[in-house]
Amino acid sequence: MLWVAIVGLVMTVAAVAVAGRRVLFLYRLATVGQPAPERIEYARTHVGDEIKTQLVEVFGQRKLLKWTPSGTAHFFVMWAFFILLTVYIEAYGAIIQGAITGTPDFHIPLIGTWPILGFLQDFIAVACLLGLVAFAVIRIKNSPKTLGRRSRFSGSHLGGAWLVLFMIFNIIWTLFLARAAAINTGNFPYDSGAFASQAIAKILPKSEALEDVALLLHIGFMLVFLIIVVHSKHLHIFTAPLNVLFSRRPDGLGPAQEMRSGGKVLDFEEADPETDVFGRGKLEDTSWKGFLDFYSCTECGRCQSQCPAWNTDKPLSPKMLIIDQRDHAFKVAPYLLAGDKAREGAPDDVLALLDKPLVGEQGVIHPDVLWACTNCGACVEQCPVDIEHIDHILDMRRYQVMIESSFPSEAGAMLKNLENKGNPWGMSEMKRAEWIEELDFEVAMVEDKIDAEYLFWVGCAGALEDRAKKTTKAVAELLHIAGVSFAVLGPMEACTGDPARRLGMEFLFNMLAQQNVETLNEAGVKKIVATCPHCFNTLANEYPQLGGHYEVVHHTQLLAHLVDTGKLIPVTPIEQKITYHDPCFLGRHNKVYAQPRDIMAKVPGVQTQEMHRCKDRGFCCGAGGARMWMEERIGKRINTERVEEALTTDPDTVSTACPFCLVMLGDAINEKKNSGQAKESIEVVDVAQLLIASMRTSD
Ligand code: SF4
Ligand code: SF4
Repeated sequence: MLWVAIVGLVMTVAAVAVAGRRVLFLYRLATVGQPAPERIEYARTHVGDEIKTQLVEVFGQRKLLKWTPSGTAHFFVMWAFFILLTVYIEAYGAIIQGAITGTPDFHIPLIGTWPILGFLQDFIAVACLLGLVAFAVIRIKNSPKTLGRRSRFSGSHLGGAWLVLFMIFNIIWTLFLARAAAINTGNFPYDSGAFASQAIAKILPKSEALEDVALLLHIGFMLVFLIIVVHSKHLHIFTAPLNVLFSRRPDGLGPAQEMRSGGKVLDFEEADPETDVFGRGKLEDTSWKGFLDFYSCTECGRCQSQCPAWNTDKPLSPKMLIIDQRDHAFKVAPYLLAGDKAREGAPDDVLALLDKPLVGEQGVIHPDVLWACTNCGACVEQCPVDIEHIDHILDMRRYQVMIESSFPSEAGAMLKNLENKGNPWGMSEMKRAEWIEELDFEVAMVEDKIDAEYLFWVGCAGALEDRAKKTTKAVAELLHIAGVSFAVLGPMEACTGDPARRLGMEFLFNMLAQQNVETLNEAGVKKIVATCPHCFNTLANEYPQLGGHYEVVHHTQLLAHLVDTGKLIPVTPIEQKITYHDPCFLGRHNKVYAQPRDIMAKVPGVQTQEMHRCKDRGFCCGAGGARMWMEERIGKRINTERVEEALTTDPDTVSTACPFCLVMLGDAINEKKNSGQAKESIEVVDVAQLLIASMRTSD
């Protein structure tokens, strides 16, 4: 029928025009941001890796499937989009063929009559319907109305999500109506296989008019859905694969991004705060990849549900961090795109919106949100569309610290100490070697060139903090027993710069890092072992940005290898129940989960018990992101929350592999002991301390 084709095609042209206009707007808005040539360059030069990533992350839905019920539902709904494209080819083919020949019995060339395709189309449509039911149940069960802040959907745009579920439902029921009607009129391309459509056909009358109306409804709902998608959070259907394509590899964890201005890495010797971009002070300082992050957020709240700040009643939600910037971007977009002309004669409320600072008491992001982040990476790890929350936070912190000088005042002392003494406590560099005097064997000190296999990077905490010094001595003793040759830098070692960088003081990080890289390169260092996961991450992943290329291992990796190869043999039983806390910069940021556990498994007598939140879902101790040097004034203390979880396993010992975790968990355990909520005998120790205790015989 001609009229069916005319209505169908006119609807399509109109909808594609509306959607296309929106896509153009989104593109223009993203390109208001800073260039990010390194993202394009990486994708261009790693085509094979990128294809594999798309297959695993987008088509395989790896991250979503970790959340079994919602992941499975999403898997089927997403695959329905791909497979049901064939149904739309058939629908458009039918209306065009109907107009030309009068009989809408179109089929896709070659494969279009295969029963297996008919079956697949029906199967995925039914699975999609079941997926919609699952989504509805999950949304009702996790409604913010009943769960409040604990709901991962708290803060999300809920109405839009329900509308999209309703639209997909409309697409599916009209699909079955059109297919069943075509079966009854004899225009259906499949003799068998389409089990659901055939069943529905039995209860419908034979009617060509019904077939025409059903086809138009099916096409119409899809077109309305398309318009809704490009105007809503469901934009992620199109932007998520792009966001995955241009995300950092292997993920947005590990190294902090270098500071860039105009797409180039900022050279502090030549940088000019007047003309260069210093972090992110306004929306336009965001790179186009940042805008792509905004467009890709599905508002699923997986990041929020894992965030230690959000879970301890602080105002930071990684989801809201992204949504708030996106909503602001859409509000100011018409003025942003109009350039300076937009300000001329603009009303006061528009000017106020345009002048709204990105970070500030009255800004898009409140300072309490910005400074609550521990850089733990739980959000990045969970995000199914590879949004890089930490990059957003660090860029905003950089502007606040370096341009506005606005940051929690207590962190100022740490910065001053780093600048003047090379460690956050402001202690004399001569104290860095004092722990060696407490050992009963010699430790080599690098003087000119290193004459040992490993440089033992002790770290500020490992050298200067009493509890961390125990780990340092245990590791040194274990390396000595195993016959591993190592040397230390002693007073020549300075802070890696991690706390400065994570606070946003990139300039100071650069200063310290360059000094250390120079020392290490001059000494001819090739292999480094570090006890602190923050030092480990900086040395291994960030120093290459400054020309420092070393083979870096964490002490748990080296010790696990030495135990494995029989160079260290734990013999004395430690009859204890132990729960292990994953340090974020060792686990999530660097994927070292197995080795600390392997070491404990080799210690006779040890009985391990995992906490509920462990490995890639481990819960931060509260010290990362330079939070160690800031007061925790809002909500519950993160270390208290973590220790309460540890205590649910009724442990004799809490083990970890980070000096900062050791301090944070130790403090929280002491508080619990003082209030009678934990037994006096519970200890917090490094895995190395357990190993050395088991190496010592009772005589
Ligand atoms: S890095 Fe950790 S603390 Fe920071 S926003 Fe993400 S989950 Fe929250
Ligand atoms: S940032 Fe990622 S995990 Fe968080 S709500 Fe958005 S899509 Fe979900």
